Amino acid sequence: MPENPRTTKTKSPSAADTPAAPVAGGICAIDSETVVATYDAAKEDAKSAKTSRAKVNLAELSHDELVEFLGTLGEPAFRAKQIEDWVRSKNVRSFDEMTNLSKALRAKLSETATLGGVTEVARQESADGSRKYLVAFDDGTSVECVGMPHGDKLSACVSTQAGCRMGCLFCATGQGGFTRNLTADEIYAQAAHIAQDFGRRITSVVLMGQGEPFANYDATLEAMREMNSPEGLGIGARHITVSTCGIIPGIRALSQEPEQFGLAVSLHSAVPETRNTLMPGVKKYSLKRLHDAMKDYTEKTRRRPTYEYAMIRGINDDDASLDALVDFCAGTLCHVNLIALNHLPGSKLEPSDPARLDAFVKRLSSVGVETTIRQSRGADIDAACGQLKQRKAAK
Ligand code: SF4
Repeated sequence: MPENPRTTKTKSPSAADTPAAPVAGGICAIDSETVVATYDAAKEDAKSAKTSRAKVNLAELSHDELVEFLGTLGEPAFRAKQIEDWVRSKNVRSFDEMTNLSKALRAKLSETATLGGVTEVARQESADGSRKYLVAFDDGTSVECVGMPHGDKLSACVSTQAGCRMGCLFCATGQGGFTRNLTADEIYAQAAHIAQDFGRRITSVVLMGQGEPFANYDATLEAMREMNSPEGLGIGARHITVSTCGIIPGIRALSQEPEQFGLAVSLHSAVPETRNTLMPGVKKYSLKRLHDAMKDYTEKTRRRPTYEYAMIRGINDDDASLDALVDFCAGTLCHVNLIALNHLPGSKLEPSDPARLDAFVKRLSSVGVETTIRQSRGADIDAACGQLKQRKAAK
C-alpha cells in the first residue's frame, strides 16, 4: 500500500520566523508579539481541533489515528483502509454511501464521527467557464476557491487560511482580517469539491487563494502531498504550485522537501519602500534577503520560480520600478507573471494601462527574463479573493 501522506510529518518554520504584523497605519495594526502569540495559539488550536469537537472528523486523521479510533469502536484495523477509500478516492459525503460497511457500523460512525469536507454556501459562474465557490467547514468558517477549465484541463485555486494577517493593500482578503488556519483536510477538500463539481480530474492546483500558505506551512504541505498522492487526487507535483508573499523561512523549508512542487512569489515591487507599503506583512523580509533566498532555492532545486507582479497605475509601473524589477530578476532563474490589478471596490488603486504591461514585457524579455501577461480568469466574477465572501456576508 502506498504511504499515506497524512502519516508523513513535516516541520514548520519556527514561530520566531513567522511573518511580521502589518505595521501601524496598515490595514490591521497588530504588534509583532501579539502576532507570534496568536500564531502559536492557532497552531495549538489546530492540534487540539481533532479531538475537541463533539464528533471526530475522520478525514483529518492519519491512517494510524483512524485505526486507533476504529479500535475504540471495537472495529478491526482493515476497516481504516475501506473508509479511506471512500473518503479520499470516492469523496463520499455520508456514511450511508459506504456500502461495504455494515449498517450497524455506519450508524455508529454517524453518531461519533463526521467526514469533514466542505459545504457549498454560494457560487458564481464566469462566462469563461470558471466557477468561484464560497465553501464552509464544520465550524461554519468559510473560504473561497476557484475552478478554471481550459480545454481538457482543469485548474484549481484553493485557500490555506480563513482570512489573512498579511494586510496587502490590493487584496480584499487582507482587508478582512484573519480567522484561523485551515487544516490539511480543509485545504484538500476544496480541490476535491472542485473536481467533483466539474466531474473530472484536476490537472493543476495553485495554493493562491485566501491566506499566506507559509504561515500555515505544515497543513499546506500535507494537503499538497495528499493532492499529489495516487490515493488522493493524483496531481503531479510539478503541477501543484504554492504561492507566498515572500516568507523566507517557508521558501527555504520548501527547497528542502523531496517533491518537485512549484513556487510562486508575490513580488509586486522591487523597490523596497513601495513593496513595504503594498505588502506590510513582509516588511521584515527585505528584498535583499528575498533575492538571496531565491538564489539558494534555485540552486538547490533547479526549478524555475514565478514572480507575480500586479501592475498598479502610478504605484509600481513607472520606469524606476521597471529598472528595479530588471535588477532583481536579470541573471536569475525565474519567470515573471504580470497581471493587471483587479480593482477592489472602494480602493484608490487602479490597474495599469495595457501599454505599460507591454513595456514591462519588452524590457524584461530584452534582458532574458521570461515574462508573460497573465490573463485573469473569471474577471466577471470578482477575481480578487474575498469578494464573494464579503458580498455574501453583506446580504
Ligand atoms: S495577497 Fe495573499 S498574502 Fe496578501 S493579504 Fe491577500 S491573501 Fe494575504
